[in-house]
Amino acid sequence: MSERPADSWYEATARRDAPLPALEGDIQADVCVVGAGLSGCSTALHLAKRGYKVVVLEAERIGYAASGRSGGQIIPGWAGGMDKIAGQLGKADAKRVWDFSIEGIELTRELIERNRIDCDLAWGHVHAALKPRQRLELLDMQRGQEGEFGYRKLRFMERAETESWIASKRYIAGLYDAGAGHVHPLRYTLGVGRAAIAAGAQVFENSEVTGLTYGPTATVKTAKGSVRAKFVALCANVGHVGLSDRLARKLIGVASYVVATKPLGEARARALLKDNIAVADLNWIIDYYRLSADQRMLFGGRVSYSGIDPLGTTRATRQRMLNVFPQLADVEIDYAWGGMIDITMSRLPNFGRLEPNVYYLQGYSGHGMVATTIAGRLAAEAIAGQAERFDVMARIRHHDFPGGRLLRRPTLVMAMTWFRLRDLLP
Ligand SMILES: Cc1cc2nc3c(=O)[nH]c(=O)nc-3n(C[C@H](O)[C@H](O)[C@H](O)COP(=O)(O)OP(=O)(O)OC[C@H]3O[C@@H](n4cnc5c(N)ncnc54)[C@H](O)[C@@H]3O)c2cc1C
Repeated sequence: MSERPADSWYEATARRDAPLPALEGDIQADVCVVGAGLSGCSTALHLAKRGYKVVVLEAERIGYAASGRSGGQIIPGWAGGMDKIAGQLGKADAKRVWDFSIEGIELTRELIERNRIDCDLAWGHVHAALKPRQRLELLDMQRGQEGEFGYRKLRFMERAETESWIASKRYIAGLYDAGAGHVHPLRYTLGVGRAAIAAGAQVFENSEVTGLTYGPTATVKTAKGSVRAKFVALCANVGHVGLSDRLARKLIGVASYVVATKPLGEARARALLKDNIAVADLNWIIDYYRLSADQRMLFGGRVSYSGIDPLGTTRATRQRMLNVFPQLADVEIDYAWGGMIDITMSRLPNFGRLEPNVYYLQGYSGHGMVATTIAGRLAAEAIAGQAERFDVMARIRHHDFPGGRLLRRPTLVMAMTWFRLRDLLP
């Protein structure tokens, strides 16, 4: 993963405010939020609007990690799939969980409008099938979302129509979703962070949390200070690994990479993707891409399960792009970056409490733009005493990654090698 955020096209095209001060000394709050990605910013915003004194501690800067580096795709549903959720919670609660995601999309739209967040929000998304079994998956997806959840924004497309939207020979079918879309994720996250601050939340940057003491009043420590708070919300993504063994066992960090080409010019860009849609394929290791507002191809897909940044990541991600769009062979890459995705065993999100007053939001498994936005609202409601909706999510059970601390990653690498092979099968 590039450690220099300036390598990301998002950092190059977002306006950051001056750094916020680091925490120094001991202070008190109603709620201490750890991490200022979208989970933390949304939680802080919703709590501050309810009148809570909220302090946010961020190790780097707002939106520095996944939320500011993501593909920016706004898609209903949850990673891991609705079938698994229905298997655990039953059909009625699975419908509620689906509805949370639709509420999350509406909330995203509302936050952008109400706070005038300039983040290139655009609607239209296609899930694309590469092989016959994935074509059937798309039909199943449509049947499930329309039949069980009453979602009416989908259109199934056979090969020719899919190719009229995505100028690639690779896909045999597509599912167009008019209710999904994309944003500039860093500008969106910074906008939600600014809204939280405007609502009264106090954010400290460069304030890594190094320890947590539980109790009716919890103490959250940084190198130079501490926050004593009635509630804590852990929103630190893979940062949880260093904060709680219980959370670490359920989580593994996987790096995902994105490249941005040089600007293609309007005509060439529009010829690649109709109506400015975003696209994700159905492979286990997915390709996801879209155009930027200045007509670059932003293409993500390469992952590293070993946690080691593989040499030649930019070249490999570019090659994945050329597999889809060979017509871009002459185009140079201007920016390349990566970020960490918090994956659970089942890929379902993992929300809950470590103690009655210590909440956590993690395990978005690469599907977190909408999920974090709504999760912040649900966590804020729960902290304010209305936990019913949060607790539907908290009922989703999770297995530990096998292998303990030492063997967890090698075991995952082996499993992922199998899934990679599966992507290659017809
Ligand atoms: C390359 C990439 C592409 C993606 N594409 C998509 C996409 O297209 N659509 C989609 O829905 N999802 C996508 N995702 C997933 C999505 O971005 C994440 O699920 C979501 O942003 C997670 O938000 P978060 O707030 O939980 O975590 P983050 O945004 O990672 O924020 C966590 C914050 O906690 C801070 N932190 C960590 N440890 C500590 C500590 N000890 N003390 C204080 N602060 C700490 C970090 O610095 C960070 O700012 C993508 C992710 C990546 C990496």
